[in-house]
Amino acid sequence: MKRASKIVKCVDCQREFPRKQLNRMLRCHDCALDKVEAVSRQLHNREGPEYEKWKTAMKKAIGGL
Ligand SMILES: [Zn+2]
Repeated sequence: MKRASKIVKCVDCQREFPRKQLNRMLRCHDCALDKVEAVSRQLHNREGPEYEKWKTAMKKAIGGL
């Protein structure tokens, strides 16, 4: 039996990759890097949708203690 790796689309750029090349969030390496950059930039500037998400998640985490 051949173990061909499954082809999956990156959730961001919609390009196709073997499953093992995508990360947990089904993002390719390029998009994952872009995402990390965008998030860290927004956290630094304290604005943007990713910052709001992060803030909400942090509040939840703190409130859940
Ligand atoms: Zn991608």
